[in-house]
Amino acid sequence: MDCVFCAIVAGDIPSTQVDEDERVLAFMDINPATYGHTLVIPKAHAADVLEIPTDDLTAAAAMGQRIAKRAMANLGADGVNLLNSCKAEAWQTVFHFHLHVIPRYASGPHADGMTLPWTPQETDFDAIGAAAEQLRA
Ligand code: AMP
Ligand code: ZN
Repeated sequence: MDCVFCAIVAGDIPSTQVDEDERVLAFMDINPATYGHTLVIPKAHAADVLEIPTDDLTAAAAMGQRIAKRAMANLGADGVNLLNSCKAEAWQTVFHFHLHVIPRYASGPHADGMTLPWTPQETDFDAIGAAAEQLRA
């Protein structure tokens, strides 16, 4: 399989690693959104959040929390976004599950100027109720 993140796990291509445990690896994003942008991946290939085994997802979430705390404490971040994209329509470009840990900076040398990527819609209780009904099934 031709997977860039599997190649990173195997050590076949370089990465700037931050942390790891038996299930997951954390390394720096090569085209960072902000200062300290880190990716957390399972060592075992899974394409996305629909495929990843729950144990690996749990380990990735715990590692993401660990990196987020370090971003706040060590990088001086003012906040952190944890982001996962599933499928091309949702912006996924590398099809090996990864959790983005994106430190956020209100000001200073790393001020990011990022904005919310969606426009909140008018409240439509019928649509909200219909979606909830479908999601309960
Ligand atoms: P996504 O668009 O959510 O699938 O995110 C893929 C991320 O992987 C992007 O932020 C890329 O910058 C990052 N990326 C791609 N190749 C590498 C690489 N070799 N090393 C580190 N990060 C990478
Ligand atoms: Zn892979």
